[in-house]
Amino acid sequence: MLTHLECTRCGEHYPADRPQTVCPKDSGILYARYDLANIKRTFSSARLAGRTPTMWRYDAVLPDANPVTLGEGFTPMLSSREYPNVYIKDEGLNPTGSFKARGLSAAVTMARHFHLKKLAIPSAGNAAGALAAYSAAAGLEAHIFMPKDVPMANRVECDYYGAQVTLVDGLISDCARRVAELKNSDSWEKDGWFDVSTTKEPYRVEGKKTMGYEVAEQLGWRMPQGIIYPTGGGVGLLGMWKAFEEMEALGWIGSERPKMICVQSAGCAPIVKAWDEGKPSSEMWANAATLASGLRVPKPYGDYLILDILKKSKGTAVSATDSEILDATRHWAKAEGIFAAPEGAACLVAYRKLLSTGFFKPEDTVILFNTGTGLKYQDVLDPNVTAAKPAQSKKPATRQIAGIIGPY
Ligand SMILES: [Zn+2]
Repeated sequence: MLTHLECTRCGEHYPADRPQTVCPKDSGILYARYDLANIKRTFSSARLAGRTPTMWRYDAVLPDANPVTLGEGFTPMLSSREYPNVYIKDEGLNPTGSFKARGLSAAVTMARHFHLKKLAIPSAGNAAGALAAYSAAAGLEAHIFMPKDVPMANRVECDYYGAQVTLVDGLISDCARRVAELKNSDSWEKDGWFDVSTTKEPYRVEGKKTMGYEVAEQLGWRMPQGIIYPTGGGVGLLGMWKAFEEMEALGWIGSERPKMICVQSAGCAPIVKAWDEGKPSSEMWANAATLASGLRVPKPYGDYLILDILKKSKGTAVSATDSEILDATRHWAKAEGIFAAPEGAACLVAYRKLLSTGFFKPEDTVILFNTGTGLKYQDVLDPNVTAAKPAQSKKPATRQIAGIIGPY
């Protein structure tokens, strides 16, 4: 049912029967497009009942390829114990402990489908672990380029998954340069290399969009009034919005949409700044620094799409300081029993702010996305470390994990 890929900037169509990256004309992000009218005739949301409790239950709206799966997706939507109309979508229960599992399950599935062999990623975080795990499951080579001072969990898991880990003496931007150098080598085409960096291949968005399908299905095909999403690269936000459009075309939901809220760290908030200034794209955030390493993305590649979604959904963008994020992480653990990634706990900070300003009313149904488990951030969240250096300092609260980070 996958018919073609479409550029999100110029609308140009490209064939989906071969590996693609970004639009050759304007570097726009490519979206997978399906014959939704045909799917509507042959599949209904009622048929989802009893299907496998993974993101692949939505295979009617995913590429037709043999999935590389570790059981990702269909994560719990937990009722908050503190706020009656808030749900916490706990992505920390995914394989490899984060929402990155969804995008990389889809991307590695397509890489194997296209007989690619060596998958490269510059990453200082959970995307690296997820790529390593899914590559192991698929029998493909994962080549991870990480700053040498990455969080311990990510380095150790990549090693155990058998990935080729190159520790780079520098920042994530230096890691990205190493991948770019590889692309210029003779080996790139010949040996089946592929760059699976966020939004530079079309299928990570497809994996992430299943979060949107799950929100709808788990709420009984109702739309919530709001979704608060920690936004680094913003792939999940793009994916969920794409899912809502597809579901409307399929007749699974109506034209209603949740307000989409992007939460960023005050130490790296390019989308919040652009939103406040009414700009259609973001500027590179200088000296990005936050303990929430997934939010350390100085200029998301898909910024133009993120800002458009905030506008269309009547949403907004909110920032949270590292100190607020740390407090919220501890609060969630004690109040909800959820040991969240700091990026996820930032949603609680945003929700409290939006409740106090009246943007949300207590009776509004709002979904907060916990994007990963706190267990992978132990060296960041260890009170012995965070107490030693004030969290609100300009530098990262713990140590320089990666400095500048791309949307990985
Ligand atoms: Zn284009």
